[in-house]
Amino acid sequence: MRRLLLAGNWKMHLDLRGAIQLAAGLRRELADVADRDVVLFPPFPFLADVADAVEGSSIEVGAQNLHPEPQGAFTGEVSGAILASVGCRWAIVGHSERRDLFGEKDAFLNKKLRAALAAGLKPILCVGEHLEERDAGRAESVVAEQVRGCLDGFGAEDMERVTIAYEPVWAIGTGRTATPQQANEMHGVVRALIGERFGSGVASATRILYGGSVKPSNAKALLAEQEIDGALVGGASLKVEDFVQIVRA
Ligand code: PEP
Repeated sequence: MRRLLLAGNWKMHLDLRGAIQLAAGLRRELADVADRDVVLFPPFPFLADVADAVEGSSIEVGAQNLHPEPQGAFTGEVSGAILASVGCRWAIVGHSERRDLFGEKDAFLNKKLRAALAAGLKPILCVGEHLEERDAGRAESVVAEQVRGCLDGFGAEDMERVTIAYEPVWAIGTGRTATPQQANEMHGVVRALIGERFGSGVASATRILYGGSVKPSNAKALLAEQEIDGALVGGASLKVEDFVQIVRA
């Protein structure tokens, strides 16, 4: 049985005060939750303060993105080493908003994953198909290509710190969720791919999260599925009450 992981992607929301309040509220309300992992992904400028706000609790903090290079003349970018130095333990790589709005491709995301691992971070690799790809019967092949491309050249030991999030693009921020069965099916496909590539031990140890309009009302059914090891939550992670209900679901 894999330990559930609940991740809150705050995207480009909140201000410093709101971020600290949200982190402090979650810390307070989740103090007795010992059987699941909780990670918060605030905007870059709030990372250090949010890390301080949860220090000493079991809640961890991660970045929504990172640059593949460890340092250098990359104006406006943030490296894994910088993130680790402010208390970050995780990084999201390949969110569909990065892929679609910023043109990030699998080969580039492969470098970001390597950079995250090199900096001692635990990456969450996001994969997922668009609606037209699902409608054309191509959901599995699209996701398989993303998984293969992003993990190209990786070894079993690299996978110890990699989590995968299946996030169908048509379900992100739309209020339209994949059914638990649809999600479970795709998670099974991803796990089989991991198994082919790294062996059954790695496949059964790798956590695969579902993301896409997870909310208090649907979290329980999604998390009850055999292949779903947690959730990557956007909108519903911005309210203490909603995210607490999801973590406890
Ligand atoms: C996300 O940002 O990864 C996400 C799944 O967003 P939402 O929960 O708002 O659909």
